[in-house]
Amino acid sequence: MKIVKEPTYKKFITGPLERFDDRKGGFSRGRNDPGGSKYDKMHRRSVENIRKNVKGKTVLDHGLWAAARTVDYVMRRTQYGRETAALFNREFKAEGLSPAELTRTIKRVGRWLGADLVGIARLNPSWVYSHWGDQNAYYSGAAQAGDPIDIPENYKYVIVLVREMGYDMVKRSPAVEADTDLIYARMGFTSCSLATYISEIGYHAIPSVNELGIDIAFAVDAGLGEMGRMGLLMTREFGPRCRIGKIFTDLPLEVDRPVDIGVQAFCEKCERCAEHCPSGAIKSGARTEEPWDESNNRGMLKWPVHAMKCLDWWAKNGSHCSVCVRVCPWNKPDTIFHRAAKCLAERDIFTRLMVWADERMGYGKQSIDFFD
Ligand code: SF4
Ligand code: SF4
Repeated sequence: MKIVKEPTYKKFITGPLERFDDRKGGFSRGRNDPGGSKYDKMHRRSVENIRKNVKGKTVLDHGLWAAARTVDYVMRRTQYGRETAALFNREFKAEGLSPAELTRTIKRVGRWLGADLVGIARLNPSWVYSHWGDQNAYYSGAAQAGDPIDIPENYKYVIVLVREMGYDMVKRSPAVEADTDLIYARMGFTSCSLATYISEIGYHAIPSVNELGIDIAFAVDAGLGEMGRMGLLMTREFGPRCRIGKIFTDLPLEVDRPVDIGVQAFCEKCERCAEHCPSGAIKSGARTEEPWDESNNRGMLKWPVHAMKCLDWWAKNGSHCSVCVRVCPWNKPDTIFHRAAKCLAERDIFTRLMVWADERMGYGKQSIDFFD
């Protein structure tokens, strides 16, 4: 892993990056689809799957994701996207500590509260959404769709939190895979509790998951990984098998440096996610500036993801999907063997051979075991 001066996406910027309007995001458009909400369709199909007792999508499987989401829904409705109020201490402030000491403290507390990775970046306003989108406004209730988003100017930093999803649970996809839901719920605990900590020591914090800005870009700025072909954050530790949360804050902190873990070169040679995506939503071949549609921002050479195709597949499947995460060669359990392979991957050594061998060895195959 190389510490680099600039995030690796920087060299692919081709024009001005306008703040993205979350109303154009796939999740918002899916809610407002002229043919009816794609989520309603997905849930109707889910009931159909239960009725037909489809393997991996039975009533017992269905219950997993709903159970796992419970806390996430509460956190979105009550905590995310708004400033956290201190519970008790409104008098004393943790003063006399340097940014380095505060950073150490925040990272320690963040990990104690369950984060697997904690990174800090100076807040790049380009990554803050210009307006609330329908989906996030619906779940949060903190604003109406179309309301402008303004993070207060004194909020100079974003603390980015990553939590790992379970390797075996992700293997189930496109059958019911409930770690997307569970890790969002756990992230709710971690990010909202850390925001309370910041408020309680005399500073200000706004916790958020999907609301307010582009998590992946913040995470890359905070040195937690790079953006891969499938459009998700690729971490050194878990590949794309993780979820992100973030906290905007006025706490004075020291920022992390971005990293180059070799993902850009690797994804140029590997197209595994594009080959296996059931909806054809992931672009194969070279990066492009051309968006699929309004859900892709302009101004950067990248592999745009076709959000509507992805959501159409979720509706057809009756469940959200993590097939791209499941098949990615960077999605591996943490073993000595895989750590050694990662050293080669990071240096772009034998990449094509490794991608070929990875599939032959059976990695990325679906397995729906859970109740056994
Ligand atoms: S979630 Fe599924 S449908 Fe969407 S991009 Fe990934 S593999 Fe394709
Ligand atoms: S599957 Fe291959 S191309 Fe897709 S994100 Fe993972 S490494 Fe990159």
